[in-house]
Amino acid sequence: MRFLKLIIKVFLTLTIILAVLGWFFYDYYQPVEQAQTPPLVVNDITGLNPVNVTQNVRPTTEQEIVDAVLSTTGPVSIGGERYSMGGQIAYPDSLHLDLRDYDEVINLDTENKLITVQAGITWKEVQQVIDPHDLSIKVMQDFNNFSVGGSLSVNAHGRFMGTGPIINTVTSIRMILSDGNAYEASPTHHYALFNGAIGGYGGLGVISEVTLELTDNVPIERESEVMGFNTYLQHFYDQVLDDESVVLHNAFLYPPNYEVLRVNSWRTTDKSLTHNQRLRHYDRAHWWKPAMIDLIARFDLLKRIRQNLIDPLIHQQPAVVMRNWESSYDLHEFGFSSAANTTMALREYFVPVRNFEVFVLKLRDVYIRYDVNVLNISIRYTPKDENSMLAWAKDDVFSFVVSYQQGRDDASIKEVDRWSNELNQAAIDSGGSYYMPFQIQDAPDQFYQAYPKADQFFDLKRWTDPNNRFNNMLWLAFYPDNQPAKAAWLRSQETPTAEGES
Ligand SMILES: Cc1cc2nc3c(=O)[nH]c(=O)nc-3n(C[C@H](O)[C@H](O)[C@H](O)COP(=O)(O)OP(=O)(O)OC[C@H]3O[C@@H](n4cnc5c(N)ncnc54)[C@H](O)[C@@H]3O)c2cc1C
Repeated sequence: MRFLKLIIKVFLTLTIILAVLGWFFYDYYQPVEQAQTPPLVVNDITGLNPVNVTQNVRPTTEQEIVDAVLSTTGPVSIGGERYSMGGQIAYPDSLHLDLRDYDEVINLDTENKLITVQAGITWKEVQQVIDPHDLSIKVMQDFNNFSVGGSLSVNAHGRFMGTGPIINTVTSIRMILSDGNAYEASPTHHYALFNGAIGGYGGLGVISEVTLELTDNVPIERESEVMGFNTYLQHFYDQVLDDESVVLHNAFLYPPNYEVLRVNSWRTTDKSLTHNQRLRHYDRAHWWKPAMIDLIARFDLLKRIRQNLIDPLIHQQPAVVMRNWESSYDLHEFGFSSAANTTMALREYFVPVRNFEVFVLKLRDVYIRYDVNVLNISIRYTPKDENSMLAWAKDDVFSFVVSYQQGRDDASIKEVDRWSNELNQAAIDSGGSYYMPFQIQDAPDQFYQAYPKADQFFDLKRWTDPNNRFNNMLWLAFYPDNQPAKAAWLRSQETPTAEGES
């Protein structure tokens, strides 16, 4: 009898495990909408934002960009690698400029550590060119899949200490405006255009060429510590902020409890490398990693195992690597998974350093209350941005980069909208802001509070783009001159009622 009971228990346990794995792989391997979209629908990595365009042009030269802009009098939308997540790359019935083939290096000046590139080039391609010269990108995101133009247009940032957002590393840009002419802009020449276009989400014109400062590709060593969130600020002031040996720094706040941080600092070193390769290469044999991340996202128990078992094992290993190695993660391998019923997505909040702990408490309250499926929260430091018009670092800030999993159905999207509004407001109330490459919260009041120089940006747009040609769903939501177009768009999205249909 006991033997029979044991067999039944084993059978039931195996059935449950197989059912869970079957459900997971069924959802995970369903093709995502993005892969099936016809050429005149522009969509992003989440597949949540399909927008119909009238033409899709893939220029390879600046003249082809000019020709495309002058070929119509209608709206023009601009796309890089399409990792923004709220329709920032597309506008209904626009001519879409897909810049992914506009990707050459124009000049590499190794002596002065400067590189000039076409804006559609990715960081990965830049790294392949500069790494043999022992040079490194000064500021970029954690992953190297993004385009340079897309990174400038959101004024991107990474884990680099003390450097601030990417605008601080750009010496000049060349822009194509709606009159079809090219304009050079820098911090001293046409500086309003420079400060508006970097962080301007394609609203002023096409960034065609970019000259960036580079730095030395040095060996760096990881130091990793675990601490309660309420001791982090002191650690940051004492051991990180003014220490010039720290090249990269961030802290992971672990869900589902949001109490413990793993704090990583990478410092310059002259120790021997523990990894001899200079750049990471995406290997298809690692297909299982995003699937594993997706699985961890679905179970709190697995998140706890990651925090208490997997991460300690990984981080107790010594790590001395080249700066370029640590800056060349591929997000297909590590960061992102999108399935039939769910997708990973990101949010980011910027909070003045002094308000760190209050914001952690608020974040924890919201995520627990709404039962948000948070996978990861990476916290980084950025000094105040004195330059860009749409600066998200209005003060010395910590950014909270949150990756989470959400459903694709309407109810899930509305739920995300609710908790995002609450956290956007909390960041604003703390004197901070929120990041705009992600799903758009249609809350103009919040937008103006988060970006107080928005009116200045819109005045510049009226001047550089008098016929309002350069557009996308972000500017449909917030540019006051788009109000009639926005109302028409919202009407077109309404589901007809039974009465309306008859
Ligand atoms: C997994 C993941 C991790 C991320 N991590 C970070 C991070 O660490 N730090 C960070 O700052 N951000 C991060 N982001 C956000 C990311 O930086 C932005 O989404 C960035 O815009 C992506 O570059 P892209 O080439 O895909 O741009 P796209 O999404 O193609 O374009 C973004 C915007 O730039 C405009 N644009 C693109 N090219 C041009 C051009 N040549 N001229 C004018 N306008 C142009 C587009 O119209 C659009 O408004 C992350 C996003 C994801 C999905």
